[in-house]
Amino acid sequence: MPFSDFHGNAETVHRLREMLARERLPHAIILAGARGAGKYKLAQMTAKALNCLTHPVTDGLPDFCGACSNCLRIAEADNLSARFAEAVAAREEMREADKRDTRLLIQTHPDVLIIPPDPPQMMIKVGQVRRVIETVYFRPSEGRECVYIFTDSAFMKEAANSLLKVLEEPPGFATMFLLTENPGELLPTIRSRAITLALAALPAAEIEACLARQRPQWDANQRALVARLSGGAVGAALSFDLAAYVAARKDALALLTTAAHPQDHSGLFQVTDTYRSGAEGKNKTEELIRTLYWLLEDLLFLTSGTPDLLRNTDIAAELGRMAWEVDFAWIAAAAERLSGVEAGMRRNLLRSLSLDAFVATLERA
Ligand SMILES: [Zn+2]
Repeated sequence: MPFSDFHGNAETVHRLREMLARERLPHAIILAGARGAGKYKLAQMTAKALNCLTHPVTDGLPDFCGACSNCLRIAEADNLSARFAEAVAAREEMREADKRDTRLLIQTHPDVLIIPPDPPQMMIKVGQVRRVIETVYFRPSEGRECVYIFTDSAFMKEAANSLLKVLEEPPGFATMFLLTENPGELLPTIRSRAITLALAALPAAEIEACLARQRPQWDANQRALVARLSGGAVGAALSFDLAAYVAARKDALALLTTAAHPQDHSGLFQVTDTYRSGAEGKNKTEELIRTLYWLLEDLLFLTSGTPDLLRNTDIAAELGRMAWEVDFAWIAAAAERLSGVEAGMRRNLLRSLSLDAFVATLERA
């Protein structure tokens, strides 16, 4: 799986490979893009290209083979969420004293170090950056170039300042990737010492084409739906849990239908009663709220004459009927009250009751 395996953003990938060809990769590269845009995948590909033992060239530019011992060991960390879960579990099993001193890091090749955000705060901590500083001035042991991949840009203050010190005196044989959904989260002084490459959202048609190849079990309607809900990010589309979404949408539609038809309460309590307390109920409620926002936005597109923007295209007829029964003021009120439900969740209010209240206030509106 060479660089040609990367979906979209061909210009950005080309620019990165040109820098590889000139052997002038910057010391720090900010890869910016939405969740699932492919930031980590591209950083891993570059780490392989920098250290591949067979030096393949495609389209006149450096590539990687994916089969040599360096490529294979780096690829062991391709599945970031699995490696992250393992690292967290390994630390959980330690004695309390060791736990405190153990920083979360992922390393499957001696010259490639991955630095994920450290739970429970989910931020990069100073101890993690210290490990980078300890190793960054050593020559690579088996590859040509050391690669550090910070998978998140939420840095604790001291950690950001330590990273800045490294970037002020950059080492000769290391490249650091800083992955971020929002470059503004990084210190301006860090940004000014790095180049920023952006991974833009892909057109829905491009994502649908990719899904047609990789998710053949989905029909055209399902592919169109997922492409529109994933915001132009291929990774988000490929990892989309369609079954969970459709289940949440069924409940969301039941809530909105009850709110739009005050006389008909059948089914509402059966729905809201399934949203219980506990972690599982919390995830389920968050998914429901996210889905409600998407449906309200679709109703807004329909009532404001921009049906092309509709995301839930597979239930366009049902949404069209609902759009006839509500108006802009009702949709705006629903969105506002939904943010109230979210706030209530943060205060740990009983979920089923706050969902019932959400529907009840809309009936009065
Ligand atoms: Zn290789």
